[in-house]
Amino acid sequence: MKWLPSLQDASLFTRRDFIGQASKAALLSAGALSFTGLAARPLFNIAPPVTVGDIMDMVYKEIPGAPFTNTVDTIKAGTRDQQVTGVVTTMFATRPIIEQAAAMGANFIIAHEPTFYNHTDDKKWAGDNHIVQQKEQLLQDRKIAVWRLHDYIHSFHPDGVFAGVVQQAGWLSYYKNESPVLELPTQTLGNLVGHLKKTLGIDHLRVIGHLSQSCRRVAMIPGAAGGQAHLRLIEKERPDVLIVGEIHEWETGEYIRDSYAFGSKTVLVVLGHSVSEEPGMQWFRDWLAPKLPGIKVQHLVSGSPFTWV
Ligand SMILES: [Zn+2]
Repeated sequence: MKWLPSLQDASLFTRRDFIGQASKAALLSAGALSFTGLAARPLFNIAPPVTVGDIMDMVYKEIPGAPFTNTVDTIKAGTRDQQVTGVVTTMFATRPIIEQAAAMGANFIIAHEPTFYNHTDDKKWAGDNHIVQQKEQLLQDRKIAVWRLHDYIHSFHPDGVFAGVVQQAGWLSYYKNESPVLELPTQTLGNLVGHLKKTLGIDHLRVIGHLSQSCRRVAMIPGAAGGQAHLRLIEKERPDVLIVGEIHEWETGEYIRDSYAFGSKTVLVVLGHSVSEEPGMQWFRDWLAPKLPGIKVQHLVSGSPFTWV
């Protein structure tokens, strides 16, 4: 399935469409069913009215030392005391996601990554920028609060993003002691890549290495941890495969190219940033929804912005 960043596409697709397990209609009914089902279970934590701050506090309670004094997980739009009418979890609070949340009557978006195109969401990062200003205005007009959930979800035990990705890939039984290294059944790189594309709903991904190569020991770093983290993990674990979300081509890409030339057998699989962490925000949706009876909590897939040509 193509993930075009158009309003219509992004507004209609949710995680379940994304992984091809249900049609849109089925999703809507499944959502309704699970919501009704929850009413029968004694999982009530907070009943409406619920504020943005109440939900933030629920997350803080899970994490030792939270709230952190130094974190990028700040409110990007709206306020802590804003009453929540519905929650949307997603990777990026894109314009289509904002519009779709508003259309669904949800006024709180919890996004893993920045809203304003840089790590700290500094709105002056690129000077007076007209897209930043328009996005800010859109959020104000729609009365939508946005909170980034990056540092905190990575501080869950296990890391919520990692758990979500491993679960989505069907590798939970190989995930031991929160280690980023999984010992899988021996298979070719080609098979491994095919499996990742299918389970994570990825059309295209990039590989450095030979598809016929055998692999078993897999190291994973979803997202964009940076070349230093990639290289250190490779050096420490010497995996057959490193699977990442995003790379700096001139760091990790060139390192793998040279290490291959020096005889190392570690190959690289680059999933794409958004798709590599998307299951993590679905995981968070599943964590949060039962704790908020009476409030609809939905995951919307912001998807990859790229078209392959
Ligand atoms: Zn992340």
